[in-house]
Amino acid sequence: MIDLRSDTVTRPTPQMRRAMFEAEVGDDVYGEDPTVRRLEEYVAGLLGKEDAVYAPSGTMTNQIGVYVNTSRGDEVLVHQDAHVFNYEAGAPALVSSVQVRQLPGEGGVISPETLRAAARPENVHFPRQSLLCLENTHNASGGRVYPLDAFASVCEEARGLGLRVHLDGARLFNAQAATGIPAREWAALCDTVSVCSSKGLGAPVGSLLAGDAGTIAEARRARKALGGGMRQAGVIAAASLYAFEHNIDRLAEDHERAARLARGLSSAGYEVVPPETNIVLVEVGDAPRFLEALAARGVLATPRNSSTVRMCTHLDVSDEDVERAVEAAAGIARFGVAG
Ligand SMILES: *Cc1c(COP(=O)(O)O)cnc(C)c1O
Repeated sequence: MIDLRSDTVTRPTPQMRRAMFEAEVGDDVYGEDPTVRRLEEYVAGLLGKEDAVYAPSGTMTNQIGVYVNTSRGDEVLVHQDAHVFNYEAGAPALVSSVQVRQLPGEGGVISPETLRAAARPENVHFPRQSLLCLENTHNASGGRVYPLDAFASVCEEARGLGLRVHLDGARLFNAQAATGIPAREWAALCDTVSVCSSKGLGAPVGSLLAGDAGTIAEARRARKALGGGMRQAGVIAAASLYAFEHNIDRLAEDHERAARLARGLSSAGYEVVPPETNIVLVEVGDAPRFLEALAARGVLATPRNSSTVRMCTHLDVSDEDVERAVEAAAGIARFGVAG
């Protein structure tokens, strides 16, 4: 099977497993796991932040980010297609008791004007607004990069409104690989940044939240409260450290393969959003029927909605896999299933 459902489906390579096997460990809740500590310092350095905290998932690091930047009853401003709002099981309400205000914008970008229009004056009727959440790359729009200048201008508007800024950077290093702009340039504009090692970077598990030392100290307490305090976590942190040290630059290969996949699908007659990174969105007519026919031809993908399918390239997808996926889809188009 060629698995294009997500870039989370990668399996650790032998070299990554060796790093896990050899990891030095201690009790991380006591702050004694040297591998976890190295990972946290390494990622804080990559992002130009004072500190970072390691957690099991990007959902946890995002939600800790929401928690440490807000108070109960606050309003959090997000893009209407944001992962933190749509795909995290209602956690902003569950964990932080905040309400989420959804803003529109092309490709996950929120304009300063849109943000300003959503601002609420000081008045006893209104919720307090404390946080803007941004996402880069933007998953739902097909892995679009948040342009740095647009990012900077909405962050400046947010500061003017007294908001803090959290970045869901589950695929921030894809944005770096696609543009050559260091991840830390986006991170510098934010209070907290979440990054994942378990997407295209290929680790089996693990995300980090970076920020200033005081915020991350608070985040460590929140992580414990959520059940994310792990003990000899160096065994898995070693995989994440390996991923950040070795697999960032190769994300460009995933982007090239996504571009090739998109071109092939387009030649086969499909309407495709040209990918900026590793996510390809394809219009297929009837998504469930298409996916069934595709799986019968040995290729897995996921529905985005009733007519759109998402395909991700990643560490375990080769050039040959891309060709075979295009052939499989082309076969379906010929049989008219794509309708
Ligand atoms: C995958 C993802 C996350 C985190 O997901 P987990 O599965 O909880 O690690 C957060 N934001 C975006 C945009 C994602 O794609």
